[in-house]
Amino acid sequence: MITKEIKVKTILSASKIYDWVINPYVGCQHGCSYCYARFMKRFTGHKEPWGEFVDVKINAADLLYGEIRKKKRGRVWVSGVCDPYQPLEARYKLTRQCLEILAQNNWPVTIQTRSPLVLRDIDILKEMQDLEAGLSVTTADDAIRKIFEPNAPPISDRINALDELHKAGIKTYAMVAPMLPGAEKLADLFKGKIDYLLLDRMNYHYADWVYRKYGLEDKLTDDFFQQTSKKLSKKLAMNIGEEEQPCPK
Ligand code: SF4
Repeated sequence: MITKEIKVKTILSASKIYDWVINPYVGCQHGCSYCYARFMKRFTGHKEPWGEFVDVKINAADLLYGEIRKKKRGRVWVSGVCDPYQPLEARYKLTRQCLEILAQNNWPVTIQTRSPLVLRDIDILKEMQDLEAGLSVTTADDAIRKIFEPNAPPISDRINALDELHKAGIKTYAMVAPMLPGAEKLADLFKGKIDYLLLDRMNYHYADWVYRKYGLEDKLTDDFFQQTSKKLSKKLAMNIGEEEQPCPK
């Protein structure tokens, strides 16, 4: 893993999904096999494989402190092309520092992660007026998780994080995107722990080799996505949105 501390010029960027997005890191230690964010390599000149480099934006909080005074208030997505709670966050606390500033200024926030490290910041999250905290959970089967997301936290830890957040009175959602084999069994795990659910199918081809290697090609079809979506929706009896982007977290 190559880690480099960098200074950037801006941190609060316009987003097509929400109003704004903050990415405190370039790159992601989780290195999921299907991750669409690997396009970042093209823009940042990294030659290392996806998952094996992270640039740490050490001036993220300083920048946000200034930018939040100049930019129009809107919902901030944390994060779009990295996991804001990847392991390095335990050391650098950039996400925490940015959330503190967003909370002090009362900006609406949507968190999206695959990591239970989000629970470290529950003190700040509980104080936020307009917050949604989401865990990406792509399958109920941890053996499948290990195949596609070997460096991301186990499914049970993510479900526990959803539970803890929900019990703390925080609005929670689960994001099943991309929907992996074994997602059919997620309804029982989510029950009572989420306010809403987002679904999306596998939209990219980066992980096609994984499906081929393990003979899972039938789980790449529209049919699998539609059938599984129906099952989840019926069992959870809640409104289900289809997410426009497939990443994180
Ligand atoms: S899908 Fe999300 S958690 Fe996985 S590597 Fe990409 S940015 Fe990181």
